[in-house]
Amino acid sequence: MTQPTTSKILSFLDPASPQPWASFIEQIDRVAPHLGKLGYWLETLKHPKRVLNVAIPIQLDDGTLAHFEGFRVHHNLSRGPGKGGVRFHPNVTMNEVMALSGWMTIKNAALNLPFGGAKGGVRVDPKSLSLAELERLTRRYTSEIGFLIGPNKDIPAPDVGTDEQTMAWIMDTYSVNHGATMTGVVTGKPISLGGSLGRREATGRGVFVAAREAGLLQGVAVKDARVVVQGFGNVGSITALCFANAGARIIALQDASGSVANPNGIDVAAAIAYVKAGGKLIDMQGVEVISTNDFWMLSSDFLVPAALEGQIDAELAERLDTKIIVEGANGPTLPEADDVLTRRGITVVPDVIANAGGVTVSYFEWVQDFSSFFWSEQEINGRLEKIMAAAFHDVAQLAVERKVSLRTAAFIIACTRILAARDRRGLYP
Ligand code: NAD
Repeated sequence: MTQPTTSKILSFLDPASPQPWASFIEQIDRVAPHLGKLGYWLETLKHPKRVLNVAIPIQLDDGTLAHFEGFRVHHNLSRGPGKGGVRFHPNVTMNEVMALSGWMTIKNAALNLPFGGAKGGVRVDPKSLSLAELERLTRRYTSEIGFLIGPNKDIPAPDVGTDEQTMAWIMDTYSVNHGATMTGVVTGKPISLGGSLGRREATGRGVFVAAREAGLLQGVAVKDARVVVQGFGNVGSITALCFANAGARIIALQDASGSVANPNGIDVAAAIAYVKAGGKLIDMQGVEVISTNDFWMLSSDFLVPAALEGQIDAELAERLDTKIIVEGANGPTLPEADDVLTRRGITVVPDVIANAGGVTVSYFEWVQDFSSFFWSEQEINGRLEKIMAAAFHDVAQLAVERKVSLRTAAFIIACTRILAARDRRGLYP
């Protein structure tokens, strides 16, 4: 059977700003030749199952009324309930949340977790609100998307600009509205509310495991490696710390405040403590402030983009001087840049594998909440190591067999699982 072609940009999206959804679609298109008969169903991944756009009115501390825009997207639920974070950032758009939800579908399937893909966001600068305003915003957002989420339907988690306190408010609001404490509605919660040991560090730890395994294959040792990390939040800071603890030198860091470098290695633990206490990376002692261009031009063994999507375009990819890029962030490399990096022999460990440690431990948290039986941190980290390393090597092996990039190999594995489920379930009616 042949399929009608459909436009790459859905009608309600702004054709003038196609990113990052267009990148996701391009990545899906690249898998098409590798799916055999399951390719019949591929088009379903180009259409999010459902999208929700909500208004979030809250009263500010000074009594004025403010409206914020919120989103929740279910991209694909063929293999299980939706799973994906909630982003609070001033530039969040429906297009971005759709792409992020699509990458969650792929990531969950690539790791063989029993989840579909979802994502949410609120267009807000969380730093501009007081704690009380942030709580009101989070609770109203939760109520507005309340009919979409639930322990068996869609389970949010932290992302950029949200943390375990945000998850606690979502869990409480949902529980109050349902008349029962339902810890399994979110992951990344505080330990005292059914959170999992090791969840906060899981994404960064997983990025490090993926980097280490890629290094083993490429003959790039972690010990004494020069590492550059963009983004120094949850993912970037823990990734940098894991590298430093393994004997690597973190020669440069960048966050929203700017870029800093030290060729002898930045004291990552001190940087984390400094930023946690409210300081800016660029004001830290023992580092030199450098320009954004100089940051990207540094020679390194591992480069870890761990901030936002769309950071590495084709032009930058031509100039990067690194051996292995490990995507801590979701979607940091544009498809055209992927092609340049492949041509230049620079390995890219794709987001859907590299940063999957967070959702993997989120899965452990969800399982623990359902059984009300909690595991030790050692058990969690041991299982995370095993799952991450195995997933990386499965992808690496397929990439060699099919002569494709690690990203396309990860998409082949994931799409095969998702579309096989779609095929078995069939269409209704
Ligand atoms: P975070 O809010 O904790 O940190 C974000 C960091 O990026 C901050 O240091 C911020 O200063 C920096 N940043 C923001 N804008 C920047 C810019 N223009 N240039 C340079 N730095 C900038 O967020 P996070 O949870 O660490 O998430 C980072 C990335 O990792 C996102 O792409 C997110 O989707 C992805 N991710 C997060 C998780 C998780 O468990 N938190 C899991 C998987 C993937």
